[in-house]
Amino acid sequence: MRHISSVILVALLSACGGEQASQEAPEATATITHGAVNDARLRNAAGSGEDWPTHGRTWSEQRYSPLASIDANNVAGLQRRWSFDTGTTRGLEATPIVVDGTMYATGTWSVVWALDARSGALLWTFDPQVPRELGARACCDVVNRGVAVYRGRVYVGTLDGRLVALNAADGSVVWEVQTTDPNKNQTITGAPRVLEGMVIIGNGGAEFGVRGYVSAYDADSGALVWRTYTVPGDPSDPVESEALAVAADTWSGEWWKGGGGGTVWDSMAYDPELGLLYVGTGNGSPWVRELRSPGGGDNLYLSSILALDPKDGRLVWHHQTTPGDTWDFTATQQIILADLPIDGAPRKTLMQAPKNGFFYVLDRETGEFLSGEPFVRVTWADGLDAKGRPIEAPGQDFRDGLRFVQPTFFGGHNWQSMSFSPDTGLVYIPAQEILGAYMLDGAFRRTARDFNVGTELNVFAAFPPEVASGHLLAWDPVRQREAWRVPHGLPWNGGVLSTAGNLVFQGTADGRFVAYRADDGRPLWLDHTETGVIAAPISYAIEGEQYVSVLAGWGGIFALAGGTAARGAARGPGILLTYALPQAAPTPEQIQAFVTRPGPLADGERLYHRWCSRCHGAGAVSASSLPDLREAAARMGDGVAAVARDGVPGTGMPAMGGEISEEQALLIARYLLSRAEETLR
Ligand code: CA
Repeated sequence: MRHISSVILVALLSACGGEQASQEAPEATATITHGAVNDARLRNAAGSGEDWPTHGRTWSEQRYSPLASIDANNVAGLQRRWSFDTGTTRGLEATPIVVDGTMYATGTWSVVWALDARSGALLWTFDPQVPRELGARACCDVVNRGVAVYRGRVYVGTLDGRLVALNAADGSVVWEVQTTDPNKNQTITGAPRVLEGMVIIGNGGAEFGVRGYVSAYDADSGALVWRTYTVPGDPSDPVESEALAVAADTWSGEWWKGGGGGTVWDSMAYDPELGLLYVGTGNGSPWVRELRSPGGGDNLYLSSILALDPKDGRLVWHHQTTPGDTWDFTATQQIILADLPIDGAPRKTLMQAPKNGFFYVLDRETGEFLSGEPFVRVTWADGLDAKGRPIEAPGQDFRDGLRFVQPTFFGGHNWQSMSFSPDTGLVYIPAQEILGAYMLDGAFRRTARDFNVGTELNVFAAFPPEVASGHLLAWDPVRQREAWRVPHGLPWNGGVLSTAGNLVFQGTADGRFVAYRADDGRPLWLDHTETGVIAAPISYAIEGEQYVSVLAGWGGIFALAGGTAARGAARGPGILLTYALPQAAPTPEQIQAFVTRPGPLADGERLYHRWCSRCHGAGAVSASSLPDLREAAARMGDGVAAVARDGVPGTGMPAMGGEISEEQALLIARYLLSRAEETLR
């Protein structure tokens, strides 16, 4: 019912002209009134906090908001302004996008919602109808981490591997392409990124025996512009690039039969000045190096940060975080670009805290390794050498028996986004300490569409739950050391937002959404979300008023697979929560002027509050199970007048025809329609 009314309202409002396109948008066509993001707007996004126009807010993916109306002094008064019930109970991992007052978010099974960012009213829904049997073929829950919005379109990658372009105004499909081989277990959970007329998307599925790649599609037509594989293919086929010829020398055996892995399932960042697109690659397939590449080798470009030329996808430089990975140490975790003072001089850097537990600072122009230190407990390596290559610790080889290893395949940090504040110079990391146990699966045999790891997973059935915890870690990337931490009982907490109000926001596995002081970590405010939060919050502003939003919905791989270590998390219905400071209360004079104002709408309002409001709510807002008459008016228009007159037999809705005239019923209907337009959109 709500969906239908919203569609009608969108149609009404589109006819009225909608929002203005950006002033700084020369290449945007004048007709785009929804989702008018373009390259100029993305390039300039750092300066204005009004929108949250791309996944990490800016191409540099810092997840820092320059908004400061909500700050460390007033955040204690933060209140829920609106919420949206997603109707889901599984993991919600998306970062919402906000453009010109409209919010675009995704949920389980790759469903997209467009909402009024001021009121939370649903404008449209797109359900890509992902076949539910795919749930078992996805490694890590049926989650989605969000959309991209660009030139009037909303782009979503679906769990079954499609990239779909939607009309930002109404959610109708403009084009869709299959980006994966439907016969392989490749899934999309990550958010597409948009730049230079292209939509960039990767996928996951390394455990199921696939070959990793990242693709660029033409944003207008959906045509494939380029595809870059991250690991070498079958040596009897022509090699796709120079970079893959180099990589092939670092593999042995018949790795290509299992795909090799190295999937690009989450992180990307873009530097338009350097003309470099950065992507992180995942683990090998299977995890265990001897089973994948029996003669050894680094297995390029697994677990690597790749700098690509976005024009053609050519590899410019790479840094492999875990050569010859054997622990599922992906480098798909968030990549942040920032200029940091290194040895006293500003340096264009790239930062990452991948699963392997080391915090990396690289020169993002050349890929030069600048520094790297463990940000959580690390037992698999004794440190990094001068070039950033890990020095593997002795006694970690698990081929001849069980070894405890930290971090584990859940990572010292996983996909939950971190944040960099240029004010404090700190990176805020959703860090976790989870004990790993690895033991060679002696009976391992690769199966085409099954979970191929090569280690005995049942060792975790013998674990006590105390082996896992999490914390919010404030990390100084220049000094490579901890600034402060806030311990959480459980791991798998939410992504992080930092703001110019000296604030850091993070949700937790146990169902809290908390604001901390960014400089010292002191908790200042919290709300109970009733379900574990794993997604990252955002902030945006409409007409100068600042909002903070977060999707709450417990799930993801640790929730699914963690067993007793994940017990204690809050499990409840998924909800999109939006917070703001209280609005100033109106004065008695303002209220009197409002109540006695003249005109037919005010007359309709008075009649409504005389006859209808004690059942259907003051201001026509129903907070009970009785119908919200704004929605009825949006659906039926003046037809609501007939319902008021004649009643609805058998429902408790009486016929009011004896009390109110035809003309009065019509005034009530017009009032309800105006309320619908004001508050539903
Ligand atoms: Ca993996």
